[in-house]
Amino acid sequence: MAQNGKIGVTTENIFPVIKQFLYSDHEIFLRELVANAVDATQKMKALALSGDCKEELGQMDVRIELDEKKKVLKVIDRGIGMTEEEVDKYINQIAFSSAGEFLEKYKDQIGSIIGHFGLGFYSAFMVAKKVTIDTLSWKEGSKAVKWTCDGSPEYKMESSKKAGRGTEITLWLDDDSAEYAVKSKIETLLDKYCKFMPVPIIFGKEQEWKDGKYVDTDKDKVINSIEPIWTKAPSELKDEDYLKFYKAIYPGHEDPMFWIHLNVDYPFTLTGVLYFPKLKDRMSIEKNKIQLYCNQMFVTDHVDNIVPDFLTLLHGVIDSPDIPLNVSRSYLQSDANVKKISTYITKKVSDRLEDIFNSQRTEFEGKWDNLKLFIEYGMLSDEKFCERALKFALLKNTDGKYFSFEEYQKAVETQQKDKDKKTVYLYATAKDEQYSFIEAAKNKGYDVLLMDCELDSHYVNLLEQKLKDVRFARVDSDSIERLIPKEEKIKPEMSEEKKKELSDLFKSVLPEGNEYNVEGDSLGEDAEPVLITQNEFFRRYREMSALGGGMNFYGELPPSYDITVNMDNPLISKIMAGEDKDGDILRQVTDLALLANGLLKGKALSDFIARSRKFIQ
Ligand code: ADP
Repeated sequence: MAQNGKIGVTTENIFPVIKQFLYSDHEIFLRELVANAVDATQKMKALALSGDCKEELGQMDVRIELDEKKKVLKVIDRGIGMTEEEVDKYINQIAFSSAGEFLEKYKDQIGSIIGHFGLGFYSAFMVAKKVTIDTLSWKEGSKAVKWTCDGSPEYKMESSKKAGRGTEITLWLDDDSAEYAVKSKIETLLDKYCKFMPVPIIFGKEQEWKDGKYVDTDKDKVINSIEPIWTKAPSELKDEDYLKFYKAIYPGHEDPMFWIHLNVDYPFTLTGVLYFPKLKDRMSIEKNKIQLYCNQMFVTDHVDNIVPDFLTLLHGVIDSPDIPLNVSRSYLQSDANVKKISTYITKKVSDRLEDIFNSQRTEFEGKWDNLKLFIEYGMLSDEKFCERALKFALLKNTDGKYFSFEEYQKAVETQQKDKDKKTVYLYATAKDEQYSFIEAAKNKGYDVLLMDCELDSHYVNLLEQKLKDVRFARVDSDSIERLIPKEEKIKPEMSEEKKKELSDLFKSVLPEGNEYNVEGDSLGEDAEPVLITQNEFFRRYREMSALGGGMNFYGELPPSYDITVNMDNPLISKIMAGEDKDGDILRQVTDLALLANGLLKGKALSDFIARSRKFIQ
């Protein structure tokens, strides 16, 4: 039966091209070979189940063997095997010609091809100088065949002595690929790509500690011992199973807060489990923790372009044979299936959060602080998610109480409506620093929200667009009367000259380097003489540009403060009447206001203390 032939490929030098072409991804050869072996094994099991094959199947596993010295790697299965005709058809004709087509089609886009795609059997030539297939088909009366190819487009087919059913692929690793002739490397690759495959994958032996070192036992080491729980029905699983699985795939991570079991088979097939990790701050964000599988075979952990950006903060596993893998990343985004998948996942995530919000409110509140960053990021970056999240996202006030948007509106609308019928949501970004402002607002019967998350300046803007007739104001952005103006207020009459005099006077004692807008106002005799605030919008723009919100113009301006001088206050009257000869009262009232805002530092602070002593004496 010996047969020599030429593989049906047009490109003469296909192997060097393949090697160069796939340079960064050589390691996937192992996944491809094991996947073929698993397929053949599954097919064999199916034949036995259907009764088409009556023979005893024996142990159905896939074995990987490595001879480190000879640099020979074998993948052995007890699957359906191939007849001579099948080798000719699947290996000589189909596999190679489709590879030729593939290269022809993509030769101009070398850089943009997705890193991982199913090149099948022939990816073996990325790492081997010679490959043999030794195979015996399950079909009665079959003869074993051996196919050999040394990397040129010529192959040899001859009869083989192989006795048992199945296929043995042997790779003589080439010198450039010597790294694969190392046991630990193969172990790592099998763990990465094959840990959830549906057939036992065996490599080496279990070890035990004996006489001061590790030695092999005679027990086979099974690589895929963790159960891929996403293949089971949610009803079969308990919380412990989900947590155990999480621990197995993310060793050393804190327990997740919730999870979602994905399971859909129309109009596309997708299964998986997504976990919500605890997100305390930006430092704890880890992207690319979601692993993408295709029929339990690891494909990639870069799922951007497949799930919306904010969902890449989640952890877990997605398994779908419907995500096209042999296309460029940019193409992926426009693929109809991928779009549907992305919409489906977003919907599932919103459903789950809304469900927890409705049925486990206390638990939801308890986890909110760790969930907030994720939800705010989602709302800011995904329109659809935002619409849904408006139903379940929470607001937290400075007393640690939580409200949904609807609840909050009800709670504050009577007290906090301004003259334009807008409800003003007051918020603080730092409880300690803004303490006096928070207290002043509370004494007036107002509620103050806590917005101390990194994304909050963007978030506040978003909420102003989404919530009807709501305006946000930071509690220290103006005097309490003016934060929620109830009626048009008449400012004290002042000539231009007087205004300039007042402005020059205060600017002369304010620290340099900032912009000031000094204005006189009537706040009542008992109110503070001087109030320093930062304009709400100006401050927000500066913060957003610091976060990279594209408003750089504001980011480059010096900080700007509004200085309100209370013309009703007796100390101000004294100053304005020229009774403050050495300027000490002027300095003292200004410094007090600076101190309340945390703006008095260094020498200015020690001068202030010295002056205060003088006043006491
Ligand atoms: P694909 O697996 O994508 O079809 P491959 O190039 O990997 O492409 O394999 C081509 C064909 O060769 C397979 O479809 C299968 O019929 C056959 N084949 C490959 N490996 C094995 C194996 N270990 N056992 C039986 N058949 C195999």
